[in-house]
Amino acid sequence: MTSTQTARDPANGLLTLTAAFEGIEGSYSHGVLEAYARTRGVAFTPIGCSSFRDVAQAVLSGRADLGLLPIDNAIAGTIREGYDVLAEYELDLLAEITWRMEHRLLAISGATLEGLREIDSHPVVLAECGRFLGTLANVRRIPVPDTGIAARDIAQAADPSRGAIASADAAARYGLVELAHTIADHPDNFTRFVLFRAPNATGPAADFEPAEDLTFRKTSLLFAVANTPGALGRCLSIVGEHGLNISKLDSKTRLGATGQSSFYVDVDGDVRDERFAEALRALRDVTVTLHIIGSYDASTAPPRVRRAPAVVVDTAPPVAPAPPAKPSFPKVTRQDVHARSRVMVGDVAIGDGEFVVVGGPCSVESREQILATAEAVAAAGAVMLRGGAFKPRTSPYAFQGLGWEAVALLAEAGRATGLPVVSEVMSIEQVERMSQAVDLLQIGARNMQNFDLLKAVGKSERPVLLKRGMAASIDELLSAAEYILAEGNPNVILCERGIRTFETATRNTLDLSAIPVLRERTHLPVMVDPSHGVGVRRWIGPLCRAAKAVGAHGLLVEVHPNPSQARSDADQALTFADFDRIMHELVNVPSFTTA
Ligand code: PEP
Ligand code: MN
Repeated sequence: MTSTQTARDPANGLLTLTAAFEGIEGSYSHGVLEAYARTRGVAFTPIGCSSFRDVAQAVLSGRADLGLLPIDNAIAGTIREGYDVLAEYELDLLAEITWRMEHRLLAISGATLEGLREIDSHPVVLAECGRFLGTLANVRRIPVPDTGIAARDIAQAADPSRGAIASADAAARYGLVELAHTIADHPDNFTRFVLFRAPNATGPAADFEPAEDLTFRKTSLLFAVANTPGALGRCLSIVGEHGLNISKLDSKTRLGATGQSSFYVDVDGDVRDERFAEALRALRDVTVTLHIIGSYDASTAPPRVRRAPAVVVDTAPPVAPAPPAKPSFPKVTRQDVHARSRVMVGDVAIGDGEFVVVGGPCSVESREQILATAEAVAAAGAVMLRGGAFKPRTSPYAFQGLGWEAVALLAEAGRATGLPVVSEVMSIEQVERMSQAVDLLQIGARNMQNFDLLKAVGKSERPVLLKRGMAASIDELLSAAEYILAEGNPNVILCERGIRTFETATRNTLDLSAIPVLRERTHLPVMVDPSHGVGVRRWIGPLCRAAKAVGAHGLLVEVHPNPSQARSDADQALTFADFDRIMHELVNVPSFTTA
C-alpha cells in the first residue's frame, strides 16, 4: 500500500512521512515519534488516532506511512493491546524504540499538591506511579485514553483541583506547571514501542531506513500449545537449543480457546537466519498454532540505574542444634535447623546468603538532604534508604520530624535511586498511609512492646523492621515479633540497636552477643544498628565489621550530608566519605550468615 501524502519538505529537503499514533499531540507516543524522526534525519507528520486498532488501520489503508504502538512497560508490564494489534493485523515491523518515561504531575498555574482532588492519566501511567499516588490522601485516579488528552483536558477545565500525569512536553504544549516529578515507582521506567509500515509498502515508506548502528534483531512470536504437562517447556527448550535467547514471555488471554494456551514470546534473533528458521521448523511440530508477528531492529538494552549488588559470602559455620520449641513464640522459633526466612523488601532479599546495608539520615530534613544522601549511599553500595519522618524524641521540644512531608520526600528519593525505603511508624493511625509509601515499616525501640501497634503492622502487607527495646530481653524481642506473625504478617526482620546498661561511655551497649543467640533461636533475619548502638561516629565502623562477622544479615546506619548540622542524632551520623570507607572495609569481612 502506498501513501500519497509523502514528500520532501521543500524548506529543508527532509523526507516527510505521515506517522499514526494513539492519542493527541503531547502524548508519549507523539514525543517518541518526534525524537525518533530527529535521530533518523526525517520528518514525521503526526496523525493522532483514537485507538490502537485505528493506528493499524491508518497504516493499512494508506492514510499513514508508518504507525507506532507501545507494547511493554518496565513497571506495568505487557501492554497487551499493543501485542494483540500487532498479531492481529499483517504489518511489517521495522524497529523497537525504547523510551524512558519521565512522568510529571501537572496542573494549572496556582494549583497545589494539597489542593488536588483528581488526577487524570492513561491507566498504565497511573499504575506506574501507584506508589506516589498512594501518598496523596483523598485524590481520585481518573483513567483517560492518553496522557496528551489528560494534560489538554485539565488545561481547558482550568480547575486547580485537577492534575494530570504526562510528559514535560505536554506541560509546555498545554501551558501547565509541574507539581512533582520523578514519580514513577522505579527510575528504570522504560516503555518499548514498535514502529511499523504496511507490508509491501512502496514510495517513501519503503525508502525509509529504520536501522541504526549497533542494533540487533528481535522477533516476536505468538504460539498456542495444548494444555498438557511440559508443552510450554518443550517450546522454550527448542528456542534455547538453537542458541537463541528469549527476552520476554507472556500469556495471551485465553478467551474462546479451550484446551490450549497462547503465549507471546520475544526472541533475540532474526527470522531470516537459518538457525532461527530451524528453530521455527522444530517449534511447528510441538505447537498448535505458530504466528510470526515480525522481526525488527531492536535497540540494545536500556541503561540501568546502578545498584550495587549485595555482598554475598558463604562461610558455612557449624550448625547449632535446634532448641525445643518455646510455646510462648512458636511462629518465630526456629523449629528446624534448615529454617531460615528471607524477607523481601522491594526487590532486596534480607536473610542468609545476603549481607546488606541500609543507609540514610536519622531524620528527613529537606528534599536536597534526602536526595543527596540517597545518591551517596546508593553509589557506595547500600541497597535500601532509611529516613525518619515521625521521630520518637525524649524531649517534646526537640525536632519531631517533618511527618508526611518527609515520607513523600523519602519515597521520591527512593524512586529516584531505585532504593526501597524504610521509615518508622509511631501510631496505629499511621500504619496504613505509611504502608502505601514505604517498602519496610520500622517499629522503633520505644514501641517494641506497644502491642496494639504490633498487631496493626501484623495486619499490614508490608514487611516490618522490629527494633529491640532498650531494656528488652531477647525473649521479649521474640515475643514482640510473635505478635506480628500471629496477625498474619510473616515478614519480620529483627534489629539489635543497643540496650541500656550501667556503661555510660557509649550511648547504649550494642549487644553483639544477641546475634548468635537470635540466629539459633529464630528463623527471622537479624540486622544490627550500630549508629544507635554506640552513638559515636568513630566507633561505628568497627562495630559494622563486628556485626557482619558475628552473623548479622545486614546493617542499618545513619548517614548525613553534613553531620554537625543534623537535626537529630548529629553525634552518630556518618559523612558520605565515612560511609563509603566503611562499605569498602566491609567487603573484606567474612559474613557468618549460613548455618
Ligand atoms: C531510628 O532508627 O531512627 C530510631 C529512632 O531508632 P531506635 O528506635 O532504635 O531508637
Ligand atoms: Mn536516630
